[in-house]
Amino acid sequence: RPVIVWFRDDLRLSDHPALHEAATTRAPLICVHVFDEESAQLRPPLARPLGAASRWWLAQSLRALAAGLQARGGALILRRGPAADIIAELARQVDAAAVHWNEIEIGPYRAIADDLAEALSVAGIAHHRHRGDLLAAPDAIRTKEGRGLRVFTPFWRRVLSLGDPPPSLPAPTQLRALPGVQSDDLASWQLEPTTPDWAGGLRATWTAGENAARDKLKAFLEGLPGYATGRDRPDRDATSRLSPHLRFGEISPRQVWFAARFAAAERPAIAADVDKFLSELGWREFCLHLLADHPDLAARNLQPAFDDFPWTSNEAALHAWQHGRTGYPIVDAGMRELWHCGVMHNRVRMVVASFLVKHLLIDWRLGEAWFWDTLVDADPGSNPANWQWVAGCGADAAPYFRVFNPVLQGEKFDPAGDYVRRWVPELADLPNKFIHQPWSATPVELAAAGVTLGGNYPEPIVDHKAGRARALAAYAELRQR
Ligand code: FAD
Repeated sequence: RPVIVWFRDDLRLSDHPALHEAATTRAPLICVHVFDEESAQLRPPLARPLGAASRWWLAQSLRALAAGLQARGGALILRRGPAADIIAELARQVDAAAVHWNEIEIGPYRAIADDLAEALSVAGIAHHRHRGDLLAAPDAIRTKEGRGLRVFTPFWRRVLSLGDPPPSLPAPTQLRALPGVQSDDLASWQLEPTTPDWAGGLRATWTAGENAARDKLKAFLEGLPGYATGRDRPDRDATSRLSPHLRFGEISPRQVWFAARFAAAERPAIAADVDKFLSELGWREFCLHLLADHPDLAARNLQPAFDDFPWTSNEAALHAWQHGRTGYPIVDAGMRELWHCGVMHNRVRMVVASFLVKHLLIDWRLGEAWFWDTLVDADPGSNPANWQWVAGCGADAAPYFRVFNPVLQGEKFDPAGDYVRRWVPELADLPNKFIHQPWSATPVELAAAGVTLGGNYPEPIVDHKAGRARALAAYAELRQR
């Protein structure tokens, strides 16, 4: 009798406990991925359909997974619809001996798996849930009162105190696919854009899939010195760029953990950088644990005091922000990088998010939704948790009154303006001292660099000092309520 392996946000062959276990049975396998936008649990506010950039990534990732399975004698079966119904039905049709999957401990995803488990039990078909992609299960990191931890440092200390996670598993070398199982054609899901085809920048930037993720991790760990300081510099290539691979489970946090620890043991000089890198992985974990406790993280302030915040409605300003036309070079560079590549450097994410929420006084949920649609690493935990962090309404959040100055941030973290010049080419010929504040150049200096403020580059849509003062006044008003 065949065995089914349900692939979810774990689109890889190595360190895949469900596949590993199923392969050891030597039964014919059905490896299936279900594109599910229909399960009742996947509706807002708990979940929402994938954004456009994530759909693009998913298509590439599924192709890579299919190729990996095929190379080992397996096959990837694609189905679309409510996952629990589809897999239970498939299991009944093929008289499956068992269904295996890796646990996603979070909100709607867990609930769908619970539904499937129940349907399989009713049908008398065995199911096996395997350890998922978190370093620690949310149940294992609780306060004495049984609540999740809301402050990162004690949270991460607790995770570290658990020691190494279970070792990662090798990919099965040989698989046997059950022949004759019908699969959707990936193209019929229309995950990728056609006209207009806006994905050129994504294709030029990324290679999805497990092999690419592994190569990227290896290259990153070989060049790691300076991560702890360099990671804040958008003009440098100092971070791993693993986030979309982690998001879609093309590489597991355990694999990253062990590779990083091994690198630190081999080269003690990079131990501090490795610790910092792993603590960033800890932030991912923290965000997902928050999501487990607050499935409506993208919809609701973690601090209810912010529910009355006097956000403004300003379509023109939102549009200017989305399209990199705010007149603040570091903000515009970030938003254009995002549009082109589906990603943005972490420091710049903080700056653009702060600008939207504080200088423009626009509700963080609108920024989060834009990121959700345009990021290839758009993550149901990390995206809303970080937006809430910047907005000041989240767990362990930056205080609302800390307002990033986009000029100083640019000058500090992109000192020679290389990042701005790359993404805002109309400013490329400005001298360094004006690159983050073109308005302070004289008309003659601007003309010499081919810049016309209000022409080929916008005037600032809000004055920094006035925007900051308005944000602080709004916050003061909230506190008085
Ligand atoms: P590295 O510095 O190499 O870090 C390694 C890994 O740690 C990352 O791949 C990521 O998985 C994790 N990580 C690093 N920083 C964070 C963080 N602050 N929070 C959670 N995980 C982190 N990250 C996402 O993966 N998806 C998102 O949707 C997302 N939205 C964000 C929105 C805002 C407003 C902000 C400020 C940050 C957001 N981040 C998000 C976090 C962070 O910007 C990215 O994870 C990081 O830029 C990815 O680059 P990297 O892989 O080179 O990171």
